[in-house]
Amino acid sequence: MKQYQGRSVFQGMAAGTIRCYARLEQKVKRIPAADTNEQLRRYEEAKWQAAQKLRGLYEKAMKEAGMDNAAIFEVQAMMLEDEHYNDTVRSLISGKKINAEYAVYMTGDKFSRIFAEMDDEYFKAREMDVRDITKCLLQILGGYDETGIILTNPVILACQELAPSELIHMDRNLLLGIILERGSVNSHTAILARSMNIPMLTGISMENEWEGKIGAIDGFEGKLLVEPDREILLKLHEMQQEQQQERKRLEALYQCEDITKDGVSIPLYANIRKAEEVNQAVECRAAGIGLFRTEFLYLEKDGYPTEEEQFQVYKEVVQRMDGKPVVIRTIDIGADKKAPYFGLESEENPAMGYRAIRLCLNRIELFKTQIRAILRASMYGDVAIMYPMIISESELMKAKQIFKECEKELDESAVPYKKIEQGIMIETPAAVMISDLLAKQADFFSIGTNDLTQYTLAVDRQNAKLDGYYDEHHPAIMRMIELTIKNAHSAGIKVSLCGELATDPVMIPILLKMGMDALSVSPSSLFAVRKEIRECVRNS
Ligand code: PEP
Ligand code: MG
Repeated sequence: MKQYQGRSVFQGMAAGTIRCYARLEQKVKRIPAADTNEQLRRYEEAKWQAAQKLRGLYEKAMKEAGMDNAAIFEVQAMMLEDEHYNDTVRSLISGKKINAEYAVYMTGDKFSRIFAEMDDEYFKAREMDVRDITKCLLQILGGYDETGIILTNPVILACQELAPSELIHMDRNLLLGIILERGSVNSHTAILARSMNIPMLTGISMENEWEGKIGAIDGFEGKLLVEPDREILLKLHEMQQEQQQERKRLEALYQCEDITKDGVSIPLYANIRKAEEVNQAVECRAAGIGLFRTEFLYLEKDGYPTEEEQFQVYKEVVQRMDGKPVVIRTIDIGADKKAPYFGLESEENPAMGYRAIRLCLNRIELFKTQIRAILRASMYGDVAIMYPMIISESELMKAKQIFKECEKELDESAVPYKKIEQGIMIETPAAVMISDLLAKQADFFSIGTNDLTQYTLAVDRQNAKLDGYYDEHHPAIMRMIELTIKNAHSAGIKVSLCGELATDPVMIPILLKMGMDALSVSPSSLFAVRKEIRECVRNS
């Protein structure tokens, strides 16, 4: 048996066959070509298929996102015809007598570097396009699925890194656990794994020799065991059972109110990312949905979801919540949550980059499509809209102006909707510092401590090396929360907390003493947080 120490993201255990996953680039191998004409033919065929695919994406984007957004696929189609790119691939195949995959890979690498080094911003941005068409050609040549990792049998997945969009594409029933080389315990992938109850460790370098071997994740101690001894497996199973029993005990809280010992009611909401999760929220008697991370609807698809598609999802969630509040956050796309069809360029510092409200205020049609869908869903219950990553009053004013235009558009088409509240996430230090001003414009606040911690402490939540610095208990964060609550209450609006800090048993009594009005946590944490609330005394 071999043991590896990592950091645990979710306290659970998993045992099963390990599958080592290498990314597309890592799969491309140089193979001598016995028949170069055959490789040239394969390349031309792949190029033809890639062109068809880009044409399809262009037409879809034209219909759903307008000409500006569709243009990206037109640019990529032109690049696919670029003489230099094509000549380089062909001469590598014929000259070096190598397989088409390797020739495409080498060419993509060379051209993307050339673009990246250019001074002109336009050409610099073309680096991503070259990467995209190269990836598309490699997928076609290799017959890989573009959603990435396809699981066919139950496995513990080991890989270097994993994006949230890759995780949501996987079949949960076949994913026993995850071992990551890179990735922080505070990343969106980690939050996702926790909410899906997937045992996960980070900080363990993948070894190809694990492939096909039996492994066990000990999420209690943060260990990976490869070819574990029988006794150890039995012990882990026992711990797992104890954990399940504790969960059963917590389930007894199903009937109980979310109320402190001194009788203060603290609504406990659920964070969800798709309609299916609402069932668990209902089963655990959540007071409502405090955060619907709608970007996951976009990440799951390979094209922009239409207004109608979104409306159906929001309506389903709102109806299932049966009159309880549902806060729908507009998309927080960008940084680590990227969908290829958005055509977002790679950034040096993506967490501080082009994301969330910044993107929406720039792609107004995209924003309006979502707002209209949310407004339409308001007819079926208690809906509120929430804008993420706000840093200024002017952003909120612009969002509200666009919101008003959407109301007008619906009026003109005689589509019914109700008046709904517009709230904001407080997840940047700027928003905290001007929370007195924002509170006059917003109907409610929801504090996002995941991002607030990274921006306040200047600690990238994606960077596993900085996990030790990512201190959500830092006095600066506490003061930020206090100030936000004070300013919200002075303006007569409510404030909740929807970051991971809301699940922290040490923090729950402190947050309630500070005057936090409500908490919102993933459905899998609802019972545990309810238990903590019921043990608190708020006004002592
Ligand atoms: C947060 O930043 O705390 C938050 C809830 O938003 P997300 O985790 O989706 O960035
Ligand atoms: Mg956030």
